[in-house]
Amino acid sequence: MKSPARLLLAASCTAALLSAPTAAWSAEKPKADKTNSVDCTKVKCIALTFDDGPGKYADKLLDTLKKTKSKATFFLEGQYVKSRPAFAKRMAQEGHELGNHSYTHPHLRDLDEDRIREELTRTQEIVKQATGKTPTMLRPPYGELDQRVQAIAKEMRLPIVLWNGGSRDWATKNEKAIYDEVLKNAKRDGVILMHDWVEQTVKVMPKLIAALQKQGYHIVSVSSLRGAGKLEPGDIYPADADLERLSADTPTSEDGPGAAESPADGL
Ligand SMILES: [Zn+2]
Repeated sequence: MKSPARLLLAASCTAALLSAPTAAWSAEKPKADKTNSVDCTKVKCIALTFDDGPGKYADKLLDTLKKTKSKATFFLEGQYVKSRPAFAKRMAQEGHELGNHSYTHPHLRDLDEDRIREELTRTQEIVKQATGKTPTMLRPPYGELDQRVQAIAKEMRLPIVLWNGGSRDWATKNEKAIYDEVLKNAKRDGVILMHDWVEQTVKVMPKLIAALQKQGYHIVSVSSLRGAGKLEPGDIYPADADLERLSADTPTSEDGPGAAESPADGL
C-alpha cells in the first residue's frame, strides 16, 4: 500500500517534471556553498539546520560555526527576526542559508489560504528587510503540510525542506543526549533538525561538530547537499523525510521558544 507521504512525493516529482524553471526562480535559486567549495558528490556532507530563530543563543552558535568553518541553514520565524534583526543579518553575512519558518509558527494546515500566504509573505519581507536576502526555502512549522501549503510554496517559488534526522534537543535539553542523538542520526546528506534557542544545543556544538568532522563529514548548508541544488519550487527535500512522523521531532507550542522567553528579550 502506498503511504500518503509516498503519494505526496510522487505528486511533487510529477509537478517538478511538468514545470519548467523560470528566470525569476533562477535568479533566486539557492547557491551552492562557495566559501569552502565542498562538492558533496565527492565527499561526505551533512546539513545542520536550526529552527524557530534567530534564537537567544544564535550569536554564540555563529561564533562556533565560524571557528569550525561550518555552514548551517536557519529556518527563521518572522516574529524573532523582528526582535533580533542583528542576529539574522550576521547569519546572512557569514554565508549561512536562510529559510522561511512562518511568522508566528501556526499549524498551517489549520489556516485558510490567505492566512497561510500572509504568514509566509510577512516572513519573506522581514528577512529581506533585516538581511538584504530573501529566504530560498520553506520549512513549515512542525513539518506539517498539505496540498494547499505545497501549492502556495510553489506559487512563492520556494522548495520545501524537511529533515531526516531529529535531535530532540527541545525535549531533553541535555548536552550529552543531544550529542548522542545527532551522532546516531547522522548520515551522508543527512538534514538534522535542531534549535538555536536551546542553550544546550549551542553549548555542545563545538564538541558535536568536532565529532562529525572526525567521522569525515563536511558541514554544509542544505542547498550544497546532493540533489538539493536543483530543487524546484514546491519540491519536497530530502526524499526520505518521513512525513507522517516529523512532528514528533518538533516542540509543541508549549515547549517552543515562546515558552522560555518573550520575543523581545535577549536582543
Ligand atoms: Zn518550528
